[in-house]
Amino acid sequence: MAVAAFVLLARRTVFAVKPGATLSTKPEIEHARRIVASVYQANGYTVTVTEGWASEGHTANSKHYEGLAEDYRVNDIPFDKWLTLAAQIRARLGSDYDVLLERDPDHIHVEYDPK
Ligand SMILES: [Zn+2]
Repeated sequence: MAVAAFVLLARRTVFAVKPGATLSTKPEIEHARRIVASVYQANGYTVTVTEGWASEGHTANSKHYEGLAEDYRVNDIPFDKWLTLAAQIRARLGSDYDVLLERDPDHIHVEYDPK
């Protein structure tokens, strides 16, 4: 059991980045990205970051402007898995993060927003 846990912890998380997207460098979001990548991998998928640090294109108070949000692609995954992935990410990140399945374009939005 201890060996299996070690292998899980040591396994490198892998993610892709959409051309033009700027990764957040905030530790809170780098942590979130590792969790998101890990959850995608555990379900057999590789996550693509579609939006990170942004200077425009979001609502006025968007966490994207502070580097405290990222978006993750879902449209390369079967629709019936989207809520499962979002729920698993939400459970792993806990209450300091908001994990939302957003539409048009479809993606999982994760932001650091401690209450
Ligand atoms: Zn977003």
